[in-house]
Amino acid sequence: MQYEAVIGLEIHAQLLTESKIFCGCSTKFGSGPNTQTCPVCIGMPGVLPVMNRKAVEYVIRTGLAVNCGISPLSRFARKNYFYPDLPKGYQISQYELPLCEQGFVDITVNGETRRIGLTRIHLEEDAGKNIHEGTGNQSFVDLNRAGTPLMEIVSEPDIRSPQEAAEFVKKLRTIVRYIGVCDGNMEQGSLRCDANVSVRPVGQKELGTKTEIKNMNSFRFIEKALDYEIRRQMKVFNEGGRIVQETRLWDPNRGVTESMRSKEEAHDYRYFPDPDLMPIEVDNAWIEQIKSQLVELPDARRQRFISQYALPDHDAELLTAERVTADWFEQAVKSGGEPKAVSNWMMGELMRLLNEENKQIDECGFRPEQLAGLLKLVDNGTISGKIAKTVFEEMYKTGKDAEAIVKEKGLVQMSDETGIEAIVDEVLKNSPQEVERFRAGDAKLMGFFVGQIMKLTKGKANPKIVNELLRKKLLG
Ligand code: ADP
Ligand code: ZN
Ligand code: MG
Repeated sequence: MQYEAVIGLEIHAQLLTESKIFCGCSTKFGSGPNTQTCPVCIGMPGVLPVMNRKAVEYVIRTGLAVNCGISPLSRFARKNYFYPDLPKGYQISQYELPLCEQGFVDITVNGETRRIGLTRIHLEEDAGKNIHEGTGNQSFVDLNRAGTPLMEIVSEPDIRSPQEAAEFVKKLRTIVRYIGVCDGNMEQGSLRCDANVSVRPVGQKELGTKTEIKNMNSFRFIEKALDYEIRRQMKVFNEGGRIVQETRLWDPNRGVTESMRSKEEAHDYRYFPDPDLMPIEVDNAWIEQIKSQLVELPDARRQRFISQYALPDHDAELLTAERVTADWFEQAVKSGGEPKAVSNWMMGELMRLLNEENKQIDECGFRPEQLAGLLKLVDNGTISGKIAKTVFEEMYKTGKDAEAIVKEKGLVQMSDETGIEAIVDEVLKNSPQEVERFRAGDAKLMGFFVGQIMKLTKGKANPKIVNELLRKKLLG
């Protein structure tokens, strides 16, 4: 029997608001435990929540960016369950009436583009954090995160492979970062993902029983956990067994998913509309205003990079993966850099140097205008392409302009023919055997002669002139 995997994802993204969703406490990450709390977010009796308008705006912005319809009226509901990190005993979430419904994103895997439907995006509050590690026999609760605004993006079960799942999360991460609603930091948990997965015989329409996997905080883990879980489910089927609907936990150390608890049903949560909060009304004027402020999205920008700058698809994809990178590129081009040359330097040398120091492009020590300045020196023959590499590294280290570096270090290209000719003559005179072998047909030796000349001129001889002279002298 041939089986196929069916996957639907639920992504939780912490919104980049400065304050929490129902109180004025800060949402900053990394402060001392319980220093960012108040009676509202620690669930004292008698307090009332007040909606953070920015959080609603961010969810609408996201909805618009992923082709969702925005509900004119949506409502908060209480999701009741007991857990020590949830002081009120219920989470304020949205149930029947979410803010956004029915959108989609397109993903491309192995050259094939597929559209993944989005069921809904809703707004809810985050819980606190239980701390069990390094605390001896006790457990602690940090409520700094309690009440941080979260949006939950729920996909349709349209995903068919672990690779597609990872690509889907990557795509959403790129989008939320572009539009500035979430920092996408998976390690710190600002972007988290639960995966629902089932398998079914190829050709069968009905969905199989699913399991839900939690605790995957990187793209690699998403792929690995799903891969493991799909194999596990197929094995169960092949052995004549049945899948139990349950929540499973990914253990990255052992590379397996393990049963955590049987899956709760919606009715277990006793959802009901929150009587303390007004329904959210969103009128068209507000939607239009948010739409008008929406930045150019990654897919559109990538297409524009291909058409406007004649970049290969590969370059366009890499350069538009982050908004800061795309901005940097466009700034360099605007300052006169030839697009493909700028792209090559960015994807090659610049990325290499940044990666070495684990830096992002906005931490680069020089400005895009300065890269354009370097390219100009290569274009007008002041320095050779080889020397440009040296200048580039120096520019990266010191932040100085290419022109200043070239002057300071005396790196101007040697283009005067007489000067170069003298050196060519010297090299040929000192290598009589090589000259003989070259003339006997060993064409590879050309590289040897060029190398010798470059060594003597410290790389400054104009390679075009060197080659011309060598050819003339060796071949007559
Ligand atoms: P639940 O009631 O368990 O929360 P939902 O129907 O709300 O389930 O779906 C939650 C997520 O699980 C969605 O992303 C959805 O696409 C996905 N999903 C639902 N049924 C299946 C299934 N049989 N196999 C894989 N994914 C599924
Ligand atoms: Zn608070
Ligand atoms: Mg559900």
